[in-house]
Amino acid sequence: MTDSFSNLSLAPTLARAVAEMGYESMTPIQAQAIPVVLTGQDVMGAAQTGTGKTAAFSLPLLQRLLKHENPSTSPARHPVRALVLLPTRELADQVAQQIKMYAKYTQLRSAVVFGGMDMKPQTLELKKGVEVLVATPGRLLDHIEAKNAVLNQVEYVVLDEADRMLDIGFLPDLQRILSFLPKQRTTLLFSATFSPEIKRLAGSYLQNPITIEVARPNETASTVEQRFYAAQDDDKRRVIRKVLDDRGIKQAFIFVNSKLGCGRLARSLEREGLRTAALHGDKSQDERLKALEAFKQGEVDLLVCTDVAARGLDIKDVPAVFNFDVPFNAEDYVHRIGRTGRAGASGLAVTLVSPSDTRLVGDIEKLIKKKLEVETLQLDTRPAGPPPEKWGDRAEDRPRARAFEGRRREHDPRDALDVPHERRGGFRPAPINRDPFFQKPYEAAATDAPPSWEPSGPKTVRSSISANIKPKRKVAALFKSGE
Ligand code: AMP
Repeated sequence: MTDSFSNLSLAPTLARAVAEMGYESMTPIQAQAIPVVLTGQDVMGAAQTGTGKTAAFSLPLLQRLLKHENPSTSPARHPVRALVLLPTRELADQVAQQIKMYAKYTQLRSAVVFGGMDMKPQTLELKKGVEVLVATPGRLLDHIEAKNAVLNQVEYVVLDEADRMLDIGFLPDLQRILSFLPKQRTTLLFSATFSPEIKRLAGSYLQNPITIEVARPNETASTVEQRFYAAQDDDKRRVIRKVLDDRGIKQAFIFVNSKLGCGRLARSLEREGLRTAALHGDKSQDERLKALEAFKQGEVDLLVCTDVAARGLDIKDVPAVFNFDVPFNAEDYVHRIGRTGRAGASGLAVTLVSPSDTRLVGDIEKLIKKKLEVETLQLDTRPAGPPPEKWGDRAEDRPRARAFEGRRREHDPRDALDVPHERRGGFRPAPINRDPFFQKPYEAAATDAPPSWEPSGPKTVRSSISANIKPKRKVAALFKSGE
């Protein structure tokens, strides 16, 4: 079988680590990228997190670095040979963890540096010498300036999530970092989209790259079941609870559009007895890592997060993702639901659509080129209790660009929503929808017939969202090509 790792002739130390990870066969990006990277060619890869992209670049990279393996304790014998740059600290941490696993039976050393943490422990590790350095751009520059990191022997550089790095405003930092590297090197660039900016970046820094594209960037994984439920803001928590109960789902990510909404929702769910943690741009690095760890350990069931805080999080097997707020940018929808149904596992993505969200749902429909239907979920009678909090609040998360990696700048003009700065201003509140569909009080499903998608599932009434969507300007296809 062509997709087996055994076809790669990986060194036994790497093959053993892969086997321990339980990978049975290569993912499409791995099958395509690993042989190319093994030849030392530059690569421009269109792939999102969740596709197995980390192994796609790190396994061949480690294999090629094995010639430098040595047991010496002298730092001089362990110069940085490979540099992996990522936009956020969480992503850097995760990629570094994966690389450590793959390299665990080799003598190659790896380390990660990102902002929001004390520089001292990072400095100590760098001073001991590491072959593979994973970093966020700002903190790496700090270490370069402090002469903790010397990059003149780098043979490989990986620009991972390059589109996000540009979104956040890291281009100048990237250019500076790349200026410290030897010209003779292999450069790998991974990005969810190949925008003109990404192509320009590739044109400047890659040499005759091989383009690898595994899935169109705005394609949602076929393993994710996507549901859209009409819900007034006050009913959204009940819809979430019902879906969790009906499906017997234990853990989920819940996405919101604002920091304020994130904290509030987490508190409300907590009050309702659900084990919940909030993850947003204002949380310290320590708090974020703790929340993430608690989720991974199963001590927390619901992780309420903003887009920025969740970017690139790799937690395997999250059974469900809820969009408590429909994202302002349709692309974020694709990123959000990419948290579930990863690496072949099936997942559920539920989007709660309030009357004013019609336009945003229309944007998603156009982007993913799929007709979406908004269903009405039959809720039990409203329990008595205090009136629910309002969720229509669009007060925004305003992390600083460097807060992505923990380096904060005062009065940074790139202060943003919880969306990249370039997109700010693009959002206009959707007009209030007067569609009678949303104005009517709730009515039970017209039929008792179980929905076709789940015999034991909740009763739903389907209605095409398209009927509520005004014709919109065309969203340009980001990819023309041919899959
Ligand atoms: P990534 O896209 O690199 O963030 O990887 C997403 C997840 O898929 C990670 O948890 C990996 O451990 C996992 N993964 C990577 N390669 C494979 C594979 N060949 N088979 C199964 N899981 C994989």
